Amino acid sequence: MKIIDRLNEDRIHISFEIFPPKTDEGFDSVIAAADEMAKLNPAFISVTYGAGGGTSKNTARIASHIKDELHVLSLAHLTCASSTKEEVRYVIENLKSLGIENILALRGDIPANMTFPDENRFQYASELVQEIKKHGDFCIGAACYPEGHVENEHKADDIRYLKQKVDSGVDFLTTQMFFDNDIHYNFLYRIREAGITVPVLPGIMPITSASQMKRSQELSGTVFPRRFLAILDRFGGAPAAMKQAGIAYATDQIIDLLANGVKNIHIYTMNRPDVAAAIMNNLSEIINV
Ligand code: FAD
Repeated sequence: MKIIDRLNEDRIHISFEIFPPKTDEGFDSVIAAADEMAKLNPAFISVTYGAGGGTSKNTARIASHIKDELHVLSLAHLTCASSTKEEVRYVIENLKSLGIENILALRGDIPANMTFPDENRFQYASELVQEIKKHGDFCIGAACYPEGHVENEHKADDIRYLKQKVDSGVDFLTTQMFFDNDIHYNFLYRIREAGITVPVLPGIMPITSASQMKRSQELSGTVFPRRFLAILDRFGGAPAAMKQAGIAYATDQIIDLLANGVKNIHIYTMNRPDVAAAIMNNLSEIINV
């Protein structure tokens, strides 16, 4: 089944995310995390993609496991900056042979010391989207950035390029993490005004430790509101309290989104079934309304 068909159903959908192990030794623990998350009945589970090597191979294996063994829709991420066009075509064909119908098409970060652009690589995610479409009838998702992508000085350019990306064949968008819902509402208004009409899944990252907050900020360049910083200041040194407060903060963001009419939400669950379960427990009645 295609994820877009699920998102178009008139009810609330919550999806989760898994990242593959860096080495094959970690494979079983990631599969165990996926197994636990599947019990929470997510709309789909996405599997991120690392640059080359074992990580990329494991994305397909884990996405297959989720689909075939757990009977949950899976979304395989695919990046193109760190691979040649030939390698990317091979991965797409492999996903097709495994019966994976849903791909999140990404450029990926440009590896340091690489000459980029280069004619043997796709330059933007929009080119990857066009390539995927040549290989079959996939449902294609893509990334978007409510606070703007770090490489773009002007948000207007970001939205113009996002429109081009969606027009190249994107079925739905997932946002970068954000911690202030007003930024998301403002972004939604601007992209709808720009003619982007596909479903947009806000990406919610439960921050359960001070170190995770630091990593998230480095990764996404997101702005943390004062309300969140006060939580970190008060509870950052007490791991169990910080975890509880982070789960409550993410739950609060989700409840506000749902109350404002958002129906589809993606949680960056980061191989943490305990965190996913705690949030789903907090929402147990809310998601059935
Ligand atoms: P693009 O859409 O290609 O955009 C990249 C930049 O180019 C943007 O600044 C854009 O505005 C600009 N641009 C686009 N088109 C044009 C054009 N025609 N002319 C000029 N400029 C243009 N990374 C991973 O390595 N693995 C993952 O699994 C992964 N999953 C992610 C999931 C989500 C939901 C998100 C939000 C990000 C994810 N990332 C992942 C990170 C992502 O790869 C990086 O943010 C990357 O820098 C941009 O990827 P993109 O697909 O958004 O690129």
